[in-house]
Formats: sequence, C-alpha cells, structure tokens
Amino acid sequence: MTLPICNICAKTGVLCSVCESKLESGKISELDVELSKILYKLGKGEIGFERAIDTKNFIVILTRKENVGKIIGKSGDNIRQLSKKFGKQIRVIGTDDLNEMIYDFVAPGRIISINTVYKPDGSVIQRVRINKRDRKKLRMGIDEIEKLISSLTNSNVEISFE
Ligand SMILES: [Zn+2]
Repeated sequence: MTLPICNICAKTGVLCSVCESKLESGKISELDVELSKILYKLGKGEIGFERAIDTKNFIVILTRKENVGKIIGKSGDNIRQLSKKFGKQIRVIGTDDLNEMIYDFVAPGRIISINTVYKPDGSVIQRVRINKRDRKKLRMGIDEIEKLISSLTNSNVEISFE
C-alpha cells in the first residue's frame, strides 16, 4: 500500500521534511495529504492511492486497480464518509490501463472506439469516440476529461461524438 505521503505522516497527521517538501514543490497537493490521513484511518493503514484531483463536481481518486474496492469500502461506506467530509461526490478510478481509465472517466457514456492515432508531426493521440446520445450523461466536461487523462498518462486524448 502506498500513499502520496509516508505512513508515519498519514498516521500522525504531522508532515516530515520529505513530505513537506513534496507538498511545497507541488508534487502532491493539500488534498492528497488530507485524503491520505483519512484513508489511513479508514483502512487501518491498508488502503493506498496515487493521486487525488479536485474537479468542479467531483473528487477523483486515482489508484491501482487492487485498491479501488478497498477505497470504496463495504457497500460504499468509505465513499459515503469521504463524500460527506469533502462535500462532493467521489469517484475512484483505476490507473493500471489507459483504455480502462478512459472508460471510467467517460462512464456512463458509451465509447464507440478508442484509437491510437499517429500524427504526421510524430505526436501520438488517443482518439475516443463517444455515442453522441450520451453527451448529456457525461459527469465531467469534455475539456476536463481530456486534460485530466492527458496530465495523468502523458498521452494526448481527443474526445469526439458520433
Ligand atoms: Zn512523511
């Protein structure tokens, strides 16, 4: 299990110099710190995650797939507590696989296809086509989804509707 801050910091709530400098340099955010402390307590040290992102309507927690269920908790107990605490809905997304991650971000919108496109200038993008009838179902803005996925994976993502 790994958290953005070390276990001792998550446990005591006081940041050591290493974690403090990660926070100061922007490698981790206040939200990462806060969430680490809460999840450490909720999971008795057994729950890890990689990053948390505060979007307009959601807190997105990114983690390895094996942790998704633990973060959600028994019948969603942890999620409910986190949601109350942060006053926002919580989404937990597995980061192991780019395509799965895209599916999770876009859900419940239906993806028609994801293609890797090699541009003439040498850059690579992931082109995601979504059923246009699902446009209203998306829980985040297109720009927001594109930006999040791009920043998390270093892949450029372009979403279109068909
Ligand atoms: Zn620390």
